[in-house]
Amino acid sequence: MLKVHSIESFWTQEWPWIRFVLFLQWCFFKCIYCHNPDTIPINWWKEMEIDKIVEMIKQTVPYFWTRGGCTISGGEPLVQAKNLIDLFKKLKKENIHTCLDTNWCLWNKDVEELLEYTDMILLDIKHIDNDWHKKITWQENKNVFNFLDYLEKNNKRTWIRYVLVPWYSDQEEYINMLWEKYGKYKCIERLEILPYHTFGEHKWKELWRKYELHWVAAPTEEAVQKAENLFKKHFKEVYVR
Ligand code: SF4
Repeated sequence: MLKVHSIESFWTQEWPWIRFVLFLQWCFFKCIYCHNPDTIPINWWKEMEIDKIVEMIKQTVPYFWTRGGCTISGGEPLVQAKNLIDLFKKLKKENIHTCLDTNWCLWNKDVEELLEYTDMILLDIKHIDNDWHKKITWQENKNVFNFLDYLEKNNKRTWIRYVLVPWYSDQEEYINMLWEKYGKYKCIERLEILPYHTFGEHKWKELWRKYELHWVAAPTEEAVQKAENLFKKHFKEVYVR
C-alpha cells in the first residue's frame, strides 16, 4: 500500500520525457515556499494497492514505450521507501523506467534497497548553507549532500533542481560555493533552475496557515538570467523551467 496524494498519468514536463507521476503524501521538510503544502501532513491521503498502481502504469506504456516511465514525487517519496521497493521491483520486471523526485531527507536500509531499482534521481537542493537550509525547510542539509556523494560514487544518473528564491537562495557566494564543489560531479547530467512563484500561496490560506513569503515577489528576468550565468560557469546543461 502507498499513501497517495494524486496521480498524473501523462506528464510531459521533462521528468524526463513522458511520465506517469505519482505524488505521495507526507514530507519531513516544511519548505516555506512549498506550492503543494497539502502534501506535507500525513493525515490526508488515500491508500492504494501496489498491484493496482502497477496495472495503471502498464496501461500508459503504449504512450511512452522507451521514452518515458514512472516518476515518484510528493510530498517526499522516501518516507514510504519500504513500500516503494515493491512497486519499483515490479516496474523493473516490466522494463519500465523508474525515477525518484526527492529532497533526500532520510537515509536507511529501505532507501538503499530502493535505489537498486531506481534508474534516475531528480534531486532538490534547497541551499548549501545549513542555516539558510533550516530557514527554508526547517531541516538540516547534511543528508542531502551525503546522498549526492553517494550518487557520484555509484554513478547514478542525476538531475538537480534548484528553486531560486529572492533573498533566500539567490546569493551569489552560495551559488558559487555549491557548484565549485559539486560542479565536478559526473553523475549530474543537468541542472534545472526553478524560479520561485507564488502559485501555491492560496493553498496555504485555504489550510489556515501563514504564508511566510507573502512579501517576496518572483525573481525578475534579470535575476534569473544572472543565476543561469552563474550556474553555467560550472555546468554545460543548465535549464530554466
Ligand atoms: S520538499 Fe517539496 S513537498 Fe516537501 S515541503 Fe519542500 S517543497 Fe513541499
